[in-house]
Amino acid sequence: MNLCRSCGEDFGSAKAFDAHRVGVHVYTYSEGAAMDPVRDDGRRCLSAEEMEAGDAFVRNALGRWSLAAHLAAARVVRDRKAEAHSGISEAAS
Ligand SMILES: [Zn+2]
Repeated sequence: MNLCRSCGEDFGSAKAFDAHRVGVHVYTYSEGAAMDPVRDDGRRCLSAEEMEAGDAFVRNALGRWSLAAHLAAARVVRDRKAEAHSGISEAAS
């Protein structure tokens, strides 16, 4: 369980948790909103409405968010390629 202290949503994996945090700077969204001029790229959580509207997240019966199957599957394929690559480099050395 990965409960977010910021928005209170629960996530099935650290990857899903990370994916709901958006923005590129170290200040929070509310700190950015208080700046002059306003900056709207501070770190914040996606809202439940935003996660429901997109195709990246699915919520199970317990209310826990996970990455959608197509994203989880893409990650598995990438991991397998990385394993295959490391096997090749070990064999070559
Ligand atoms: Zn959050």
